[in-house]
Amino acid sequence: MIQLSLPALAQAERAFVTRLRLDRDQLEAGDSLLFESDATSATFAGPHGLLSIEGVLPSDLDGDVVLMQPDIQRIERLLRAGSPHNTLLITERCDQLCVMCSQPPKKTHVDRFDLLEQACLLAEPGIVIGISGGEPTLYKEQLFGMIERVLEARDDLEFHILSNAQHFGQGDVERLRDPSFRRVTWGVPLYASDAVLHDEIVGKQGAFARLEESLAWLMLSGARVELRTVLVSPNLDALPALARYVTRRLRFIDAWSIMQLENIGFARNRWDNLYVDHSRSFAPVAEALTTATLHGVPARLFNFPRCTVPEPFRHLAAASISDWKRKYVEACGTCAERDACTGFFEWHPEEAVEGVHPL
Ligand code: SF4
Repeated sequence: MIQLSLPALAQAERAFVTRLRLDRDQLEAGDSLLFESDATSATFAGPHGLLSIEGVLPSDLDGDVVLMQPDIQRIERLLRAGSPHNTLLITERCDQLCVMCSQPPKKTHVDRFDLLEQACLLAEPGIVIGISGGEPTLYKEQLFGMIERVLEARDDLEFHILSNAQHFGQGDVERLRDPSFRRVTWGVPLYASDAVLHDEIVGKQGAFARLEESLAWLMLSGARVELRTVLVSPNLDALPALARYVTRRLRFIDAWSIMQLENIGFARNRWDNLYVDHSRSFAPVAEALTTATLHGVPARLFNFPRCTVPEPFRHLAAASISDWKRKYVEACGTCAERDACTGFFEWHPEEAVEGVHPL
């Protein structure tokens, strides 16, 4: 597992963002250059003074954009150079309480918008920056402002923003119609076409109705939307109906991602009640995928190891698990499709990998 947080010491007393460089010729404004290193630490010098990071080779940090927090003496690797999986956490507050939430919400919010905006401006060229929470649109004004300023300054960047879509309204339409927002994709969870079932899964009465309203505003604004459906026992048999709803009512979406469960957060203690062994219960998933495909809705499978998916649907299984939390098991050692396979979450239970076989 790749460590995203590392112990560090800095001369500065306040939090700051910098990009780490090993080569003086690559230095730009805001960068810190490797000053000295040994087997256990690397020290960089930059606009905020000296920054000493422990427990990692300097070559592993080259080009990373990091947030140094002197009060806790740690750096956070916000944007790792060369990684396609960079996600910025906007807030840990949320107004839903999904049964399988991988990052259970907190009541407090730490405003880091200024620092995150600086990080985005230092991003390597052409990347997609993920935004997540909590619920980022609880701070919609700050979020929109940050997105607009970054996209204006950097026409090579895109954003993918996870949002429960409980907060879009008519007043957002004109703003979201700006051409810069064509470089933003909203990842929106929808768990069932039955309002009661969806509301139960997200732990909020009325959430489905509010989501439908938000989706209408997003459609009117020409927004790019990826629907996300986490597979859990309560919605397994409801997937075919959801597929019919999506193809009938939400044809404007860019993609529909059906996602396997992550054994972390709330799902850890509820695993036995929530986890679906799709290798034994694939029929509803297959029906949903077929309906979507027949109607031209691009559907795909996230977090589904390729060998556990029936061959006719295997091409839809994307390598979706982020590199820093992905693992492979012993059987994967000789697999010809490992590079295209998502593998498993680092914390996936060993007993839930039965039947895995090299392709
Ligand atoms: S054997 Fe491993 S790498 Fe190959 S498809 Fe199965 S899970 Fe993926």
